[in-house]
Amino acid sequence: MSQSVVSHSAGLGLVDAHGRVADDLRISLTERCNLRCTYCMPAEGLPLAPDDALMTREEIVRLATLAVRDLGVRSIRLTGGEPLLRRDLVEIVAELAPLDVDLSLTTNAVGLASRAQALADAGLERINISLDTLNPTHAQLLSRRSLLPRVLEGIDAAEAAGLTPIKINAVLMPGINDGDDAVELLEWCLGRDFELRFIEQMPLDADRTWDHSTFVTAAKVRELLEDRGVELRPHPAPRDGAPAERFDVFATDGTRRGTIGIIASISEPFCADCRRTRLTAEGTVRHCLFARTETDLLGPLRDGADDAQIAELWRAAMWGKPAAHGIDASFVAPERSMSQIGG
Ligand code: SAM
Ligand code: SF4
Repeated sequence: MSQSVVSHSAGLGLVDAHGRVADDLRISLTERCNLRCTYCMPAEGLPLAPDDALMTREEIVRLATLAVRDLGVRSIRLTGGEPLLRRDLVEIVAELAPLDVDLSLTTNAVGLASRAQALADAGLERINISLDTLNPTHAQLLSRRSLLPRVLEGIDAAEAAGLTPIKINAVLMPGINDGDDAVELLEWCLGRDFELRFIEQMPLDADRTWDHSTFVTAAKVRELLEDRGVELRPHPAPRDGAPAERFDVFATDGTRRGTIGIIASISEPFCADCRRTRLTAEGTVRHCLFARTETDLLGPLRDGADDAQIAELWRAAMWGKPAAHGIDASFVAPERSMSQIGG
């Protein structure tokens, strides 16, 4: 890492008023998606911003470069919407790869089969793939599309291209995949050496159907697995502010079979350790997934602001990050839903 990044992040990184430093950047590349997961998008899709309101490849690269060079960002995850729907995804990866940063991608893997090798060749290091169930009927119910075979092809291709370690993200929805499906998915991931991460459903669905009393909490996930004979023990490595609490899975003869993560954003929030900053596809900064305000960087950038001015706007946006998301009975969901924010 260059000396300038070290000194800047020490003094002028993305610090907030509660003393946290954001060095983990999520960039949404598009609001479009080819699935319609019930916990994220409505069946009919969402109104899309016009193409010219979205960051171009050059603008993404400029903001990402500035974030790494001047604001202490150390990891970048590309997301969306569905990032594979960006035609220039491989080029974006190729231009970000030389940055001194841990570069990864979150995708639903539809269409990954034909692009995994090009992404790896362009310098992508790791990939997180969303897969809620291996049951085709349930996958159709959850994503409102019959594309599970293409997701599985995409996963095979990612593995063949060496985009490892592969993490699989699963959201459990009550009454659909929070029983046998979860155990089947766990066994499949253990067998393929993928790290499965169960993500608590957050109130960021466009349909506003999230229900505090029924969502599948981290405690319910642990109970469900343990009831079915899966032995979990806390993973020995320090959590170090990571969103996922990790557990090792043991066989009955005491052999360790692998590791899983559980992300309890709602029931056991980790806001005090949050290191995230987010750029939406329209080039606005969000300091929190649940933020109700955003700070525009793309407008000033297009109006000729220089890097120092953009960096200052970004710092100011992060300074106001609240201490916690405060999801309780009085919680008001943000206007934008998950696919529009960039999960
Ligand atoms: N389309 C890509 C995908 O699904 O992987 C990337 C974008 S998606 C918004 C990123 C992650 O957010 C996915 O793993 C998805 O399961 C998760 N997600 C979406 N809506 C969610 C919600 N309401 N609560 C928890 N996780 C959610
Ligand atoms: Fe699309 Fe990802 Fe949202 Fe599912 S979770 S609708 S794949 S953006």
